[in-house]
Formats: sequence, structure tokens, C-alpha cells
Amino acid sequence: MKTSFKVLLGMGPPASEVGERDMTICSDSRFVLTTVSQPNHLFFCVYQKLDKDLFWPRQPRYTAEEMEALAESVADHPVSDTIVFGELWKKRHRATLINLEEGVLQHWHHDRIALVGDSVHKMLPNIGLGGNMALESVVVLCNHLHAMLVSQQGKKPDLETLDETLAAYQEERMPRVLQITAFSTQVAEGQAWVTPLHKFSTKWLLPLLKDRALADMIADLMHGAPKLAYVGSSGFGKGTVQWDDEKEEKEIDVTGKTSLQWAIRIAALVGMVAVGTTQFHRARSLLGVR
Ligand SMILES: Cc1cc2nc3c(=O)[nH]c(=O)nc-3n(C[C@H](O)[C@H](O)[C@H](O)COP(=O)(O)OP(=O)(O)OC[C@H]3O[C@@H](n4cnc5c(N)ncnc54)[C@H](O)[C@@H]3O)c2cc1C
Repeated sequence: MKTSFKVLLGMGPPASEVGERDMTICSDSRFVLTTVSQPNHLFFCVYQKLDKDLFWPRQPRYTAEEMEALAESVADHPVSDTIVFGELWKKRHRATLINLEEGVLQHWHHDRIALVGDSVHKMLPNIGLGGNMALESVVVLCNHLHAMLVSQQGKKPDLETLDETLAAYQEERMPRVLQITAFSTQVAEGQAWVTPLHKFSTKWLLPLLKDRALADMIADLMHGAPKLAYVGSSGFGKGTVQWDDEKEEKEIDVTGKTSLQWAIRIAALVGMVAVGTTQFHRARSLLGVR
């Protein structure tokens, strides 16, 4: 696991300047301030890129003084057009400063033990998908265990059968987990202007996309989510976003308009990736291969 960001997390009373049910994102060089508001609470995060990546088991903890110093350093930074971070900080109920680990381990099972969630695939929280990925892994593990038990016809599985089942679970999950972990890192690095190219693309390219572009990209990722194969899901109403396995041929839009939208999205995403960083190096780094 790698740590390249720390985050100052906190909550306090609502502030009308950042809305009632809204999210704000204010980027700056190597840090980003985000707020999520609810009618009775306000949550804030200050993500800061570390000067140097740390690798497990190096995981320093921060003191209250270090937390105060970080808050002080961004106190004058706006979180909306009318309020700066220092005002939210003064009214906070609680806060903490922690490191954020990210990475995908290579071994997810041993003997009769299988791991799911953050213990094997951990990502930056900027797009809020870590918990979703944990649930998806549980679903895929259950599907493989269920299929194996059915094929055993009541016979207790031996260790070899169990090993094959758990290996199949990991194999099915790995590509999706790598894809979404890498996307999460790209969004975090883009928001925190980790390089001048990130700044350029976040400040100038992204605004060219429609307001809901990021939501659309996340929806595109989410409709590929796995389902419990042995639990009936018929009878539920269909939403505007269709699950991949429910899509009919005619719903797959291959018109020029869609291609253009994708071209713009890809251009923006490519712009968000640091100069010289390739997916190959990203995957190696996520897997902890140095
Ligand atoms: C700031 C932040 C915001 C996030 N926002 C979102 C979001 O909006 N949406 C989303 O989907 N995900 C989000 N995530 C990610 C999400 O919280 C995690 O991916 C998810 O909690 C992982 O679940 P888990 O069960 O694998 O691990 P955990 O939730 O970490 O659970 C592990 C549990 O094991 C316990 N434990 C550890 N060691 C031991 C031990 N030795 N003995 C007994 N118990 C032990 C821990 O105390 C903990 O309760 C966010 C993460 C962060 C940090």
C-alpha cells in the first residue's frame, strides 16, 4: 500500500454559504478543499499531496499541533465565493488529520481465508467508491462460494476446490478494482493540481464539459457493478442508467454524438494524468511493485 496524500477531515454546524445539500471543490497547488453539506451538518476535507510517497509499513501519525498548522496554512483559502476555510475551522465540532493509503494487493486469499474491502483494495476517497468496492467484492465472493457449493451437491469442499474458488473470486475482481482505484487517483491528483498539467486540465478543460460530466463518468463505471447471481432481482423498476447485464442491443448508442462526448471525456481525463505517467507504471505502483 502507498500513501501519497494526507487529509484533514472534520465536521461542524451547517453553513449557508456552501449550501444545504451540496458539494464544493476548491483546488489549489497540491491541495484541494472539499465540503459536503447536509441540513444539520457540514463535512470538510483538506486533501494535501505529500512531498514524498510513503510505503507500508511506514505510516506516521500526526499530532494535534500538526493538524492545527495545516488548518492555519489554508485558513484564508475560499471554500465558496463568500466563505474561507478558517471560518468553518473555527466552528468545527471535531477534526482529525490522517494519511490516506491506496493500493491493490496481489494476494487476497490463503487457505480458508479470503479478504475483501480496504484490506486488499484501498483507494482515495475523492469519488466516494471505496465502500462500494468493498460491497462489490463481497457480492463476487458470495457468487463464487454459492456456485461452488451448488456444484458440490452438499459435499464438503476440499482445500483445492476452495483455493480454486477464491482464486476465481480474485481474478474476476482484479481488473475492475484496478480500473476504479486508478480513476480515483486520477481524480484526486487532478483536483489537487499535483502537476501544472493537472491544473491546466482541471481549470481549463474540465469546465468545457457539462456540469454533470464527472457524475456521468462515475455512473458509467457503476453500471458495470456485479449483482448477487443467486438472488432474483426482477420486479424492480428500471432507472435511467441501465445495468450492463440488462442492456438490450438497441440501447447501446453508437451514434456520432456519443462518440464525440466520449472523445471529449477521454481528452479531459488524459489531461488529468501527470506528464510521463503511464497506466503501466500506475498499475505497478498500485500493486506495490517498485
Ligand atoms: C474520508 C473518507 C471518506 C469516504 N467516503 C466514502 C464514500 O462516500 N463512499 C464509499 O463508498 N466509500 C467511502 N470511503 C471508503 C470507505 O470508508 C471504505 O472503503 C470502507 O469503509 C471499507 O470497508 P471495510 O469493511 O473494508 O474496512 P473498514 O471500514 O476499515 O472496517 C474494518 C474494521 O475492522 C476493524 N479492525 C481492524 N483491525 C482489527 C483487529 N485487529 N481486530 C478486530 N477488528 C479490527 C476496524 O476497527 C474496522 O471497524 C471513504 C473513506 C474515507 C477515509
